[in-house]
Amino acid sequence: MCRAAGLGTIDGMSELDVVTVRGLRKTYGTRAVVDGLDLDVHAGEIVGLIGANGAGKTTTVECIQGLRRPDAGMLRVLGYDPVTQAEQLRPLVGSQLQDSALPDRLRVGEAVELFATSRTSDGGELLERFGLVERRKSPFSSLSGGERQRLFLVLALLNRPRLVILDELTQGLDPSARRSVWAAVRQLHDAGTTVLLVTHELDEAEALCDRVFVMRSGQVLDAGPPAELVDRHGRRASVRFTLPVGIPLDGLRHLDGVRDVEWDGRRVAVHGDRRIIAHVGAVLVRSGSVPTDLSVRVPDLEDALLGLLDGEPAADAAAEDELVGGHR
Ligand code: ATP
Repeated sequence: MCRAAGLGTIDGMSELDVVTVRGLRKTYGTRAVVDGLDLDVHAGEIVGLIGANGAGKTTTVECIQGLRRPDAGMLRVLGYDPVTQAEQLRPLVGSQLQDSALPDRLRVGEAVELFATSRTSDGGELLERFGLVERRKSPFSSLSGGERQRLFLVLALLNRPRLVILDELTQGLDPSARRSVWAAVRQLHDAGTTVLLVTHELDEAEALCDRVFVMRSGQVLDAGPPAELVDRHGRRASVRFTLPVGIPLDGLRHLDGVRDVEWDGRRVAVHGDRRIIAHVGAVLVRSGSVPTDLSVRVPDLEDALLGLLDGEPAADAAAEDELVGGHR
């Protein structure tokens, strides 16, 4: 069970940790929806929880906030046990939870007053920063999806929290509203606030997060900076072009990072790690004839997640990239 803050330390916990979770388990009936989960969030980081639907991401952040009582495991958030010390923790954590809602008739300004715990809260400044000053008198029901999400961000940040928890923050927003919410999250990061983010938007995780935890069936499959996960689990990078006269195929095969070269007539696909983009490019430039049909495919976090969730080895996944009727 969770231990109270100050009553001993958790293995592997560091002074920098804002959130430390060890062996977290949460069951509904006989079903464990979080099953032996370990997680750390360090001060000033943006950490993302990503994974399949029903993986237990929301349940995990609800346990971290003290909204759900774990069945087993140890939790420490800003030095407090969220189960036994929720009162002390509440003013330090700001959150925007999945499916947040406010009463339809509550006006933006009233919501800010309601959620502010002291007169020194930065309500006015936050409304200004998130472009909601003009909407101060508008009822919640009249706000667009983007305005609602920005209002929830304002409410989450009102009392200068040290940890902000955001669950599917940009769900359903148009691309421009998404970008403006991302910019707001980056501002938080720049100001040193620690952010724990649950998201299905992998471009969002890639753009914002210092590290991500990939969850499936209540467990962490892997964790790390998005670029490292892509290297470990994403498909290989590919460079495709029509081979200029004078460049031998064998020369391409021996470049650093190349795993495989396929060809179909003079059309070539070189597969390997990201370094091949630079090496193949250099060979082409040196040859003096850079092909006009050159194209590059770089794996992203979505590739990595699919690779991880499907248990598909990265090398095999390149089969999808094969040239029709090609050779190796
Ligand atoms: P999603 O990405 O779909 O939001 P998630 O990873 O956030 O999913 P959770 O919302 O934590 O997953 O849910 C994990 C599992 O626990 C799901 O199968 C869900 O149906 C189940 N669950 C969540 N809350 C309850 C509850 N109060 N009672 C019973 N089962 C629940």
